[in-house]
Amino acid sequence: MANEGSLKLTQALGFVFDVDGTLVHRGPDFRARPVPRAVEVLERIRRSGRRLVLFTNGSHVPAQQIARSLSDDGLPVADDEVLTPVESAITYLRHHHPGRRVFLFSTDVIRERIAAAGIPLASGEDAELVLVTHADDLDIAALERAAHAVRRGARLLTGSYVPGFAGANGMVLSRGAMITAAIAKVSGGRPQVVGKPSRAAVGELRTHFKLPTQKLAVIGDDLALDIRLGRMGGSQTVLVRSGTSGQIDLDSVPARLQPDAVIDTVADLLDSL
Ligand SMILES: [Mg+2]
Repeated sequence: MANEGSLKLTQALGFVFDVDGTLVHRGPDFRARPVPRAVEVLERIRRSGRRLVLFTNGSHVPAQQIARSLSDDGLPVADDEVLTPVESAITYLRHHHPGRRVFLFSTDVIRERIAAAGIPLASGEDAELVLVTHADDLDIAALERAAHAVRRGARLLTGSYVPGFAGANGMVLSRGAMITAAIAKVSGGRPQVVGKPSRAAVGELRTHFKLPTQKLAVIGDDLALDIRLGRMGGSQTVLVRSGTSGQIDLDSVPARLQPDAVIDTVADLLDSL
C-alpha cells in the first residue's frame, strides 16, 4: 500500500469517482455540498484530456437527473458523466439477457428510463428476471408474483444489497435491499448485485470508457463498495478518508480490499494528476 506521497495517477486513462463522502457531503436538506477543491480536481482531469465518471449507487432517479442536481449544487457534471446501478443493469441486461422480460421494482421515472432503453418489462410470474432498484411504494401482490417468478427460475438482480447508506441524520435504510431480501427469503433466490461492487458494474465501466478497467483509477470513501469495485476490475484504487471508511484501521482489512493509496480528501489528488 502506498501513502499519499507516492500516489501517482499520471498513468490512469480514466477516473471513476464515488459521490457521497468523496466529492460531496449532504446536509439535512439532502442538497450536496462539494468538498473543498473537488470542482478543481474534476476540471483538471478534463483539461488533461482524460475522461471521468461519477458512479453512485443511487437508483431513485435517472443518472442525468443526478448530474443536473449536482451541477445545481455547485459541482458541475455533464449528463454523461454519471453512472448508477440503473445504467449498469441496462448494460448487463442488453449483453447477457437480450430480449428477456424483466419484472421491475422501481420509481416511475426509472421504469420510464428502463422501458426507453428497450428492456421488455413484465409483471407476471412468467417474468424471466426480477430487477429491484429504489422504490417509493410496494404492492404485496406484485412482490408475491416476483417471488414466484424467481421460484420458477428467474434471476434476482438488485442495484445494491447493503443495509443502507450514511445520511445527514444517521443511516438511511435501503428500500431496495428490503424488497430484495423479502423476495430472496421466500423464493430461495440468491440476489445478484448490479451496482457497486459487481461484475456488472465493472462491465459498465468497460463499456462506458471503451477501455480495459486496468487503465482506470477508482476513488471513493467506502472500502466495501468503491475499493472493492476497483479491485474487481484491476483498477488503481484510492481510498479517501472523508466518509464511510474514514476511521477504519487498514491493518485489519484483508489484502483483497486494500487500496493502492490513501488520502484525506480529494483535494490531495491535485498533486498527483
Ligand atoms: Mg460514498
